[in-house]
Parts: sequence; structure tokens; C-alpha cells
Amino acid sequence: MERVYNFSAGPSMLPVPVLEKAAEEMLCYGTSGMSVMEMSHRSPEYDAIIKDAEAMLRKLLNIPDNYKVLFLQGGASTQFAAVPLNLMKRTGKADYVVTGQFSGKAFKEAVKLGYDAKCIATTKDDNFDHIPKITPDMVRPDAAYVHVCYNNTIYGTKYPEVPDTGDVPLVADMSSCILSEPVDVSKFAVIYAGAQKNMAPAGMTLVIVREDMLDFAEEKMPTMLEWKIMAENGSMYNTPPCYTIYIAKLVYEWLLSIGGLEEMKRRNVKKAKLLYDYLDNQDYYIVPVKKESRSMMNVTFVTGDPDLDKKFATEASANGLKNLKGHRSVGGMRASIYNAMPYEGVEKLVAFMKEFAKNNPKK
Ligand SMILES: *Cc1c(COP(=O)(O)O)cnc(C)c1O
Repeated sequence: MERVYNFSAGPSMLPVPVLEKAAEEMLCYGTSGMSVMEMSHRSPEYDAIIKDAEAMLRKLLNIPDNYKVLFLQGGASTQFAAVPLNLMKRTGKADYVVTGQFSGKAFKEAVKLGYDAKCIATTKDDNFDHIPKITPDMVRPDAAYVHVCYNNTIYGTKYPEVPDTGDVPLVADMSSCILSEPVDVSKFAVIYAGAQKNMAPAGMTLVIVREDMLDFAEEKMPTMLEWKIMAENGSMYNTPPCYTIYIAKLVYEWLLSIGGLEEMKRRNVKKAKLLYDYLDNQDYYIVPVKKESRSMMNVTFVTGDPDLDKKFATEASANGLKNLKGHRSVGGMRASIYNAMPYEGVEKLVAFMKEFAKNNPKK
């Protein structure tokens, strides 16, 4: 069977060369005589894999030396709790920007843990159709950190620039935009991302944390959530998500081989432009988010008629364009065009959209 174009928001497409390499090495990795899945995480072979993964990631993102790279478990959602548990003790309070479901969950988690967490801006009343402008005067100067979700996977919005929080450390959930373009890591105190959107299969969460953020963990901290302990143990306090880290390594290798994140950004801009240019020059589909807040990774659009939206997703699927149904809170369609989505996939989608609009006039 032929591979389809999978527009799923996550888990999502992986680069074909990565899947091929994994298939090639499935039964015997190097001279080990076993699969990476079967390998001790303490073996020299695996030690090289995890060290290479970190080295390649550092190169791709140009991560400064005073940052630790952690490969953890529990998904980005576990970090919603880990962030306050690791950082609140700095000053006892933290500020949150709520621009969608995931940032809302992160905020709620801090509140649930009993902390002084404050929502300093939200676009909830506009159904999260844009990113609010953040200025230092909005932030409590004694906040331990400001938390943002950099790319809102469900709504299809992204910060057009790094928010300015003055001297207050910035923490960002980058699950759905990590590695899509270069980012100045030094502007963030902590970056975290679940792997299954743009990096690897599910099972691994990346945390990039500045060293001066490692000294504020709660006394009664669950060990598995404490970044400092994970950093001191090279992400191997316990068994790490071995196979997912190995696939992430192959993805990093692939990104470096095509020319790194500058080249990845060029490709992603080209794909997103094709789709948005079409959307901006027709009047059948509506983009529910404001132009200046648009995501390059998750593109949302609606016909305005739920029955037509449903028909669209069904017919697209029959044409090899899968998982275009939007999230239930937005409705309509969502095309997730992560790194691994080829340009041809977006070309096919636009061609299908034109055809569908022609064949299904609105009443
Ligand atoms: C998918 C997603 C999450 C949740 O990730 P899990 O790994 O499923 O916990 C959190 N934040 C963002 C921005 C996401 O896209």
C-alpha cells in the first residue's frame, strides 16, 4: 500500500529516510546483534546513541553551554506540574498567558497545586483567535517565571516574536513548533516539548533548562519530576524512553543532513505560504485566526457549514489526505504541516480544496 499524506496534529508524520533507517536497523543495530528496543540503556551502544542525540540537538538549536538537555517521560502534560514544582520556590508566584487549551491546562495545574499562579493575559473571549501582546509591565516583577505556549496546536496560532517579560524568566511549551525553525534558546529559561508532534514518536519529552533554574525544587518533590536529579544523571536516573530517543536521534541527524533549521524553516515557510496564499485569495474557506498570529505548523480553516466540514474531511481521507478534521473545540479543518510533511502533500491538499469548493457550492 502507498503511504498517505497524514495531516494529524500528533502523533504525526516522520521523515521517510528516518523510518527507512529505523527499519534497516530494526533487527541488528550496528554490531550489537540486537534491536535498540532490546538494548540495555547502560550499554556502550546506547550510551553513544543518547550522547549523539544530545550533541546533535545542541548543534541544531545552538543551545548554550549553561543549559541542560533532558530526555524525560510523561509527555508535555507532566511538565505542566513539573514546571511549578521546580521553579515556584524561587519567589512563590508565577504568571501565565492562556492562549489555548494546553496553556490553560498548564495554568490550572499550577493553581491545583496550591500556588499563587496568575493569568496575566488570555484570548479566551475571542475563542483564542490571536496571541496577545506581552509587555514587561504586565508581568509581576517578582514572579518566578512567565509560562507561555509558543505554538497553539489546536487553534493554529503562534507567537510572532519571543514575548518580552523583562527580567522574569520565560518558560515555553514548544511541543508543536520545536525544530520547525531556529530559535534563540538564550531568551528562554526553560523550553519543553512532547516529542510526538515534530520530533519522534510519543514517549519522550524534551526539557531544555538553564542551569540557574535547577536550584528551586520543592522539598517534597517527586524524584522523577526533579530536573536537577535528571540532569545529574544524564536523563538516566531510571530507564529512559530508549527507543523514542533513538528515533529522535535519527530525526536530528536528518535535520542536520538537509542543512539544519535554517533550511527546515525555508521549507516550512514555503509549505505554509502555499496554503495560506490560497486561503487568502478565495472566499469559500475561512481562517478563524488573525493573520499576525498564524501558525506555520497547524493551519485551521472552516467552511462555515458543519455538514460541509464533515464531508470535506471524509472525502479528503478517501483521497489519501488523512486526519484533516479539526479539533472539536474549533470545528472545521486543521492541517498540521510539520517538518516531515512534504511540499507535495500541501500541493495535493490545495488542489483538493479547490476541487471540493467547486463541487460543493454553499447554499
Ligand atoms: C500535544 C501538546 C501537549 C500535550 O502533550 P502530551 O505529550 O500529550 O502530554 C502540550 N502542549 C502542546 C502545545 C501540545 O501540542
